[in-house]
Amino acid sequence: IRPVHIIGGGLAGSEAAWQLARAGVPVVLHEMRPVRRTDAHQTDGLAELVCSNSFRSDDDDYNAVGLLHWEMRRAGSLILRCADACAVPAGGALAVDREGFSQAVQSALEAHPLVTIERGEVAGLPPEDWDSVIIATGPLTSAPLAEAIAALTGEDSLAFFDAIAPIVYKDSIDFDTAWFQSRYDKGTGTDYINCPMSREQYDAFLDALLAAEKTEFKEWEGTPYFEGCLPIEVMAERGRQTLTYGPMKPIGLTNPHNPTVKPYAVVQLRQDNALGTLYNMVGFQTKLKWGEQKHIFRMIPGLENAEFARLGGIHRNTFLNSPRLLDDRQRLKAMPRLRFAGQISGCEGYVESASMGLVAGRFAAAERLGLEQGPPPVTTGMGALLNHITGGAEADTFQPMNVNFGLLPDILRNPETGRKIKGRDRKAAYTARAKKDFTDWLAASALPVPGDDNQAA
Ligand code: FAD
Repeated sequence: IRPVHIIGGGLAGSEAAWQLARAGVPVVLHEMRPVRRTDAHQTDGLAELVCSNSFRSDDDDYNAVGLLHWEMRRAGSLILRCADACAVPAGGALAVDREGFSQAVQSALEAHPLVTIERGEVAGLPPEDWDSVIIATGPLTSAPLAEAIAALTGEDSLAFFDAIAPIVYKDSIDFDTAWFQSRYDKGTGTDYINCPMSREQYDAFLDALLAAEKTEFKEWEGTPYFEGCLPIEVMAERGRQTLTYGPMKPIGLTNPHNPTVKPYAVVQLRQDNALGTLYNMVGFQTKLKWGEQKHIFRMIPGLENAEFARLGGIHRNTFLNSPRLLDDRQRLKAMPRLRFAGQISGCEGYVESASMGLVAGRFAAAERLGLEQGPPPVTTGMGALLNHITGGAEADTFQPMNVNFGLLPDILRNPETGRKIKGRDRKAAYTARAKKDFTDWLAASALPVPGDDNQAA
């Protein structure tokens, strides 16, 4: 069997290599460190955690990232196995001894007879005789490869920064205050949600925004902002009225709750996924600290009880416009021998990146073995994230995404009683459905790997 080449031995690449090797497919894993370094990695180890040592919540009944842990364990994830083996006490979170973790991942891959690790940069598009490649080079993809990918996919298809505006669960918005309407009534009726502000409310909001604590750019992020995606607080610093002429302009909108009074400013939220469960705050990309974001954005009328699927941020981050460019098996439509996994494919976070590596490894293995392997159901954590980044998200405004319950099809009512399900019960309903569907998906897979075999090191 010809090998599959994986570029990048981080969270996604290491997991993909393991999945391929377990399925009996040889792998060459290309990692540029230590020959070439990144601005964030400190060691030569595979699967190095560049910042926090936490894989976040391990609660698989009520938390979407905990659900992803559960699914990965069931699918024989190397990353989760090593994380469990190197866990340090962290309450309900899964946190690890970072060096032990990286060493455990590397040792398992080095010991596997089907895995070859080559140290060196792939400094351009992979050679043509590499007929199956997984590119998992992460947020700090080296420049020559990034440039080659940008040349192949088109200028606007590969971003070098994320500029993330907070994303809100639609069902946490108060529609006694907010309303659906597109500016000048263009588009469909549900493209935008509007939150009105009086002069007094705007002034209080602006004061809080200007006074709030911001995170500083780290040294490796020291590139100037693009004018088109300035942080909201930077725009606010330019003048007290700047926002009312920018993202908070009130024109072309009529508040049906109070049609005779023109709002002084309006915050708009735009539909963020095909399911219509998530809305992003238009123009609100921000470097405010997370605690400050919650407090300040809940000052906006209609968002007093907003729950955030993710908060805003701006980082150096190389990522593809995957909803436009990738098919549902993570292949580049323009060059299907290239598959993308991990953060470069538009997910965000260690666990998410590793999970997209896991599924890429399974797809590539099945392809090599002439077997059919469909994506995990969209009702599972892994399937929902994959679906979002390969098609469910709005391509025009695509920004990297964490796993969250808003990516899964809604469960609003108990099918037996017809009663509305809320709060923790709703989360439990999501995870119960996901676990069942994920188990069925694994059982139906033709790949010659046991579902939750995690011993096969
Ligand atoms: P990586 O783990 O970065 O792996 C990519 C690998 O590819 C690297 O080893 C790199 O050396 C290699 N590589 C790059 N280009 C080439 C090339 N041309 N040829 C060969 N090899 C190449 N997520 C969290 O969940 N928690 C955090 O605290 C967190 N902090 C972060 C801090 C920083 C500074 C950054 C940049 C990101 C952070 N992330 C965090 C986000 C992200 O989830 C992690 O970066 C994660 O490691 C992504 O996994 P990956 O496998 O896609 O990429």
